[in-house]
Amino acid sequence: MTDPFSAPFGSLFGDSMTVAHLADGAFDYPGAAQAFENFSMHPGTHVLHYGSACFEGLKAHRQSDGSLAIFRLDDHVERMRQSIGRLRMVVPESDLIRTMIVDAVEANASFTPDAPGSLYIRPTFIGTTPNIGAAASPSDTGILYVICSPVGDYFAGGIRPLTIYVETKVPRTTPQFGMVKSGANYVMALGPTLDAKRDHGADQVLFATGDDITETGASNFFLVDDDRLITRQLDESFLHGVTRNSVITLAAELGYEVEERPLATAELADWASTGEIFLSGTAAVVAPVGTVVVGDAPVMVGDGQPGENTLKIREALTAVLTGNAPDNNGWRTAVDG
Ligand SMILES: *Cc1c(COP(=O)(O)O)cnc(C)c1O
Repeated sequence: MTDPFSAPFGSLFGDSMTVAHLADGAFDYPGAAQAFENFSMHPGTHVLHYGSACFEGLKAHRQSDGSLAIFRLDDHVERMRQSIGRLRMVVPESDLIRTMIVDAVEANASFTPDAPGSLYIRPTFIGTTPNIGAAASPSDTGILYVICSPVGDYFAGGIRPLTIYVETKVPRTTPQFGMVKSGANYVMALGPTLDAKRDHGADQVLFATGDDITETGASNFFLVDDDRLITRQLDESFLHGVTRNSVITLAAELGYEVEERPLATAELADWASTGEIFLSGTAAVVAPVGTVVVGDAPVMVGDGQPGENTLKIREALTAVLTGNAPDNNGWRTAVDG
């Protein structure tokens, strides 16, 4: 297989998957992984027309002792159930999603690259009712499945500080979909992100609708300095990142004062001269921001390079991911392989 450290993130796949079919209100899971294969579907399938889909993204990491562990499995299972519920579809029992993830990881374990690589896990749920008239009803049949992708370091060739453009007008998504992890949200954020790339050289857009900073298209947002870690307080308008929660927990353990509160764009320029800014998410873990573009003005964050507090938090989290630090919070689930 192609080396996961040179392939684009998410472009390689393990050879097995787990699949459960929803029909008559119940999920039918055969109880074991099967060969990775294509789905065949009716061209009128619900998900292809009406967006009945959501997913999760989590990782299994090779531990320093050679064993394999999934990070924050139960938190991702519960968030998937929340997403499916908000799509108004039949919500699977936690145990089913959990078992299907563990089975998929164990079947694909041999594909897991050593740290800083990992096995990226993608549980997915799609509505499969073949009816293009069912626009105003949820799909009552569906497929729940889990695939795995061997991934290298998100920052191949070293951590590169990101440029983010602050968007105060166009929202990331709709209010009722803020907490749903769905492809629909990503395609909505795509236009503003491509425009910001073209017009401002931005890697990502920080959404701050009505001057209320929430998150980027795919990651949560943090300010940090030597004393404090600041991030937007949770509500239904944005995705509650599991990495966000891990960062907050570890930063508090490291002695940072954690503030969860509203954040306005006017704070950013001041903060950039004294503090650090970073993004969090499962794929990149902790990603330093080197430049914020507010309006037409690019503002350099510190000297534009990754700051020491950002790197300290990133290292603390990486150590827990890979078994190089004790699992004080019960975040690792050991699996076979
Ligand atoms: C997945 C996702 C995140 C990051 O969540 P993690 O659980 O930390 O991976 C942030 N924002 C959006 C919109 C997401 O879809």
